[in-house]
Amino acid sequence: MLQINENYLNLKQNYLFSEVAQRTNKYINEHPDKPIIRLGIGDVTKPLTKKTIEALHDAADHMSKTETFKGYGPEQGYDFLRNAVVDYYKKNNVDIEMKEVFISDGAKSDTGNITDLFGPDNIVLIPDPVYPVYMDTNIMNGRNIRFMDANKENGFTPMPYDGLEADIIYICSPNNPTGAAYTREQLKVWVDFALEHNSLILFDAAYECFIEDDTPHSIFEIEGAKKCAIEFCSLSKTAGFTGTRCGYTIVPLELVFKTSNGSEMSLNSMWTRRQTTKFNGVPYVIQYAAAATLSEEGIKECKENIAYYKENARIIASVFEKKGITYFGGKNSPYIWFECPNGMESWDFFDYMLNEIQVVGTPGAGFGANGNNFFRLTAFGSRENTIEAVNRIDKLLS
Ligand SMILES: *Cc1c(COP(=O)(O)O)cnc(C)c1O
Repeated sequence: MLQINENYLNLKQNYLFSEVAQRTNKYINEHPDKPIIRLGIGDVTKPLTKKTIEALHDAADHMSKTETFKGYGPEQGYDFLRNAVVDYYKKNNVDIEMKEVFISDGAKSDTGNITDLFGPDNIVLIPDPVYPVYMDTNIMNGRNIRFMDANKENGFTPMPYDGLEADIIYICSPNNPTGAAYTREQLKVWVDFALEHNSLILFDAAYECFIEDDTPHSIFEIEGAKKCAIEFCSLSKTAGFTGTRCGYTIVPLELVFKTSNGSEMSLNSMWTRRQTTKFNGVPYVIQYAAAATLSEEGIKECKENIAYYKENARIIASVFEKKGITYFGGKNSPYIWFECPNGMESWDFFDYMLNEIQVVGTPGAGFGANGNNFFRLTAFGSRENTIEAVNRIDKLLS
């Protein structure tokens, strides 16, 4: 008789976005005359840039001729794209080798799939609040999860403490949902902790392109990180590839760990084996476009879109600044994470905003218990809607 993976019984239903949609639609049905502004969007809204689109067209043409047609490609990605990623890292003074770069269909898949490489008895450290993928993929594998509190007191950048035990450590910086980012000094403390405890950091850099100051874009800017970290990133937020799908994961060659029989295994070799076994690569057309996107001109175009979102973020943050409401993000991030006024709980605040000013955001409780009194707004709306929403919030909270 079939035995199912009963770890799935331990997954909590994530009601967050369906509940948001349900409450919003109910309101719209009852008040068809009241225009809603949605600032809960966790997806980019601007189209792909010119350089990317041109490359997509060119690559489609390559597929039409016998001489340039491509079938199966290398599972780890085409060299031309892996090299483009190596060059992209050079801009942040990080030297990686092409062999350390793995192209994938996105950071979500890779942050989930990487769990294939680890034994069942690791202690997995996950921040609360959190991007749900880290938690759910480890629950599916029946792993031992411990949470680290991210809260107002630690600026949503929790740090190691005496007696902390962790074999696998998830860090997302700049963070979704909180917008908070670790400083260089803080990341150094995490790297030193990982080196000392022989643990591994899984670093999600999905929002690195929003960084505008000295905050590290990559964990590999920190000395020693190549011995204790894997980094995930993608073109989703950098270049609007959320529907186009292309990511990259850096697995350093230095990541070598002892096995129980005293031999050693390289995570880079294991990930190569995993990907070549279970994955047949990202479409050539997409990889060709991704390489054009990562070119100097391509990135320049992406930066224009990111500047637009960041100006929205600044506008949203300004109203909380003005009101003296505690908030995080708004800088180095498309997210603004603020404390609900008057100790309100996030779902109550959701209803309050919807009913009073018809602005929809995302209740922090949906990302973990520490989000209970927090609320997330995003910078992915239009400028016009962002300004209108901010004016309405300004009036509501006066
Ligand atoms: C959007 C996002 C990603 C990117 O996921 P893709 O699968 O590459 O689209 C990764 N991590 C976090 C935290 C995100 O918010």
